[in-house]
Amino acid sequence: MIKIKQSTAALHAGHIKSKTEQTMAVPIYQNVAYSFDNTEHAIKVFSLQEPGYIYTRLNNPTNDVLEKRLAAIEGGIGAVSFASGTSAVSTCLLTLLKSGDHIVASSSLYGGTFNMLNVTLPRFGITTTFVDADNPDNFRKAIKENTRVIFAEALGNPRLDMVDIEEVAKVAKSADIPFIVDNTVLTPALLKPFDYGVDIVIHSLTKYIGGQGNSLGGIVIDSGNFDWTSKNFPELNTPTKSYHGLVYTEAAGQLAFLMKLRVEGLRDFGGAISPYNAFAILQGLETLDIRMKKHSQNALEMAKWLEQQNEISWVNYPLLESSKYKKLADKYISGGASGVITFGIKKGFEAAKKFIQSTDIISMVANFGDTKSMFVHPASTTHQQLTEEEQKQTGVSLDLIRFSVGLEDVEDLKQDIKNAFKVIDN
Ligand SMILES: *Cc1c(COP(=O)(O)O)cnc(C)c1O
Repeated sequence: MIKIKQSTAALHAGHIKSKTEQTMAVPIYQNVAYSFDNTEHAIKVFSLQEPGYIYTRLNNPTNDVLEKRLAAIEGGIGAVSFASGTSAVSTCLLTLLKSGDHIVASSSLYGGTFNMLNVTLPRFGITTTFVDADNPDNFRKAIKENTRVIFAEALGNPRLDMVDIEEVAKVAKSADIPFIVDNTVLTPALLKPFDYGVDIVIHSLTKYIGGQGNSLGGIVIDSGNFDWTSKNFPELNTPTKSYHGLVYTEAAGQLAFLMKLRVEGLRDFGGAISPYNAFAILQGLETLDIRMKKHSQNALEMAKWLEQQNEISWVNYPLLESSKYKKLADKYISGGASGVITFGIKKGFEAAKKFIQSTDIISMVANFGDTKSMFVHPASTTHQQLTEEEQKQTGVSLDLIRFSVGLEDVEDLKQDIKNAFKVIDN
């Protein structure tokens, strides 16, 4: 087999046609359980001595293609899919961490993830130090004896700050802990974190990878670079009560973490993706490359145009000359900087509220990464549960509007925005 490139992998990887009656499309295995050949076979599969399908909470042939395809595109050794991006993040962390452990995370995170780390995980004895990610050394300074992972978003949502992931990966390596990156906003079409020493990549498949706003999903991909025999992860390299004394690193080698993530994470927390959603996301994935280029092209043009409008006080997009992240964006990303822009309205909060409800084509939606354009006001929606101080930390100012630029004709989007300006101009 030739070594295929990303856009080819997005169409072919993981689907063995001879196993599915030669179907061109990946079939939806809308199925819960699988019959065993005999008792001996059942025992072997259940005790993990032999690979095989048991129950769709653990594995399913449709979900399997999604996992293999995304692992191939990112350049990882394997992946486990989840019901949502949030389920991917929580199950990943709960598989690696235990009470008493500590996380160092960028403070510029998706609102739901920030709350999980800031409020919910501490109830289970897992604490987080949030750091200003603009200086990679802040991660190093925050590491304590019980720190077990570093967590960041490659392009923060909604601050649109780029993290110097190569530098942070060095910090993680010297502490012998994995660096986990949520790459939802950029997708593998624009940035491949494994090329820069990142150990684990997480995506919410709900956004650009599904790409059409119809299905929730999430995924965790392991690069294969972290050595799970590390003394920092005894649960992966000493006998586990969970499977009669099985040692994950002995049973699965490099795949130890992914094995535990599946057989304990999905078995015990249950966040499996529906095969139908996996199918819908596979449809989106096929066109990821061309969509991301077009989203990025539209977003850059809209960002430049917005900068020139009287009603706008500031515009943030990593590829604008005015962005303080331009240098990092040039270093890390290729093919564009994704479709998300943030900007402020000169007349402030009340005008911003009026403005975003006055467009026709652009909808007001708490989502991004759809083919259709969307505005959201994070301070009153996605980041509403945060205190004012936490909002500031995560980069959500009161006047900030997030614009997820879709695949419409940009001239139509400009006209739509000009019409909405009239509502606040007088
Ligand atoms: C949306 C999002 C998530 C959560 O994903 P869901 O699929 O909505 O649960 C996590 N991280 C980032 C960066 C996101 O944008």
